[in-house]
Amino acid sequence: MKKHILILHTGGTIGMCSSAQGYVPDDGFKALLSTRLQLQQSAASTHPLPDYELIEFEQLIDSSNLMPADWSKIGQMLIERWNDYDGFIVLHGTDTMAYTASALSFILQGIDKPVIITGSQIPLSELRNDALDNLVTSLILAGNFAIPEVCIYFNGRLLRGNRSRKVKSSELNAFDSPNFAWLGQVGIHIELQYELLLKQGTPHFTLPQFNPDAVVMAQVYPGISARVIDALLDSDQVRALILQSYGVGNPPDKNQALIASLERASDRGVVILNTTQCYQGSVYQGAYATGETLNRIGVIPGSDLTLEAAFTKLHFLIANGCDPFYIRENITRPLCGECSPVH
Ligand code: ASP
Repeated sequence: MKKHILILHTGGTIGMCSSAQGYVPDDGFKALLSTRLQLQQSAASTHPLPDYELIEFEQLIDSSNLMPADWSKIGQMLIERWNDYDGFIVLHGTDTMAYTASALSFILQGIDKPVIITGSQIPLSELRNDALDNLVTSLILAGNFAIPEVCIYFNGRLLRGNRSRKVKSSELNAFDSPNFAWLGQVGIHIELQYELLLKQGTPHFTLPQFNPDAVVMAQVYPGISARVIDALLDSDQVRALILQSYGVGNPPDKNQALIASLERASDRGVVILNTTQCYQGSVYQGAYATGETLNRIGVIPGSDLTLEAAFTKLHFLIANGCDPFYIRENITRPLCGECSPVH
C-alpha cells in the first residue's frame, strides 16, 4: 500500500520567492509544489514517491525569526496528526534548522516513524534549485525506509537531527554532523547506515512551554571582561549559560574576575555548560590547567554535544521543571543519540 506522508511547511528559502527586499515567503508554494511533483509522480524510480498532504504555518517564517515556542508549535502539529500518517517532513529555513531538529528530537522521543527536516539554499521557484531534490529524496526516504528518528536530509546526506549543524552559508552541502557519522548517503543509490539508527521505541511525547529567556550563550574571546558575563546573567529568568570556550574547553583562567563571575552564577544555581568553539571534537575540562579551573567552580563539560543540541536540551530540561542538580548530572547522558555516552 502506498505510504502517506505529511509535509509541514514552516517557511524558509525552499518556499520563498524574490522581492525587492530579497527572498520573502511565497504564498503560492503549495500550488507550485503540486505542479512540480506531478511531473515527478510519473517518473521511473526504484523507490516510489509516497502520497503526501501539505499543511502550512498560517504565517510562514524566515527561520532566523524562530522562537523556542515554534518548537512546541511544530511538535504539537506533528503529535496531533501522528496516527494519521506513515512519516513526516518538516520544511524549514536552514538558518535555525539544526536547533529545531535538536528540539524536536527531545520532544518526540522513542518514535516509530521518520521525521525528516529539509529545506534548501535556492527556492523551488527558481529554475536552478536544490529544493526539488531535497524534497523528493526526503519523501522517498520517509515513504520507503524505516527511520525511527528525527533527521535532517540535505544535499545527499541523511543526518541525525540533534547532531547536525549548518556549516556552509552559500554552498549546497550546507549541513554536516561533525561529531557523528552520517545516517545515510544518497548518490546514485540510497545507502543507509542501519546500525547507526536509533532503535524503534514506544513514542513518548513531551510538549513543554519554553521560556525564551532561560538559556543564554557566551563565546570567550581574547580580552573578554567579566562585565559581559554579568550583563548576560543579570536576570532571574536565566537558568543556564552555555560557555563556548577554546579548544578542548579552555577559558582565560588568568582573568580572575571572569572566573569569579562564573563561580557566583554557578553557586546561585545557574547551570553552566562548557562547549568548544571548534568545529569538531569533545570537551575535556582538565586536559589543561586553564580548563581544570572550570571543574573547581562547578562548570559542566559539554562532551561532544553540538551547540544547538546543548542549547535545546537545556531548554527542554528546564521547561520540564528539572532542577540544576538534575540538569548537571544528566545533561551529557544521551536521551536520543545527541552525544556519546560518558564513560
Ligand atoms: N533565512 C532563511 C531561513 O532560515 C535561510 C534558508 O532557509 O536557507 O529561513
